[in-house]
Amino acid sequence: MKIATSRERCIGAGICLFTAPDVFDQDDEALVVLIHENPPDSLRGDALTAASHCPSQAITVDGQ
Ligand code: SF4
Repeated sequence: MKIATSRERCIGAGICLFTAPDVFDQDDEALVVLIHENPPDSLRGDALTAASHCPSQAITVDGQ
């Protein structure tokens, strides 16, 4: 699994942070910060949920 985030697309909704706090964070501008580009299996489900719920499609996941 490889995760990528787009700060250009991010609108700072924070859903990813609340859904997968060990994978995503937000900076002072409330824009997404990727903590784990390749998260362990234990975080996979949370990361996929966050990607599917992001309102601006700012999270992409390869190799599910
Ligand atoms: S859920 Fe999407 S729009 Fe919201 S902070 Fe995360 S990446 Fe940005």
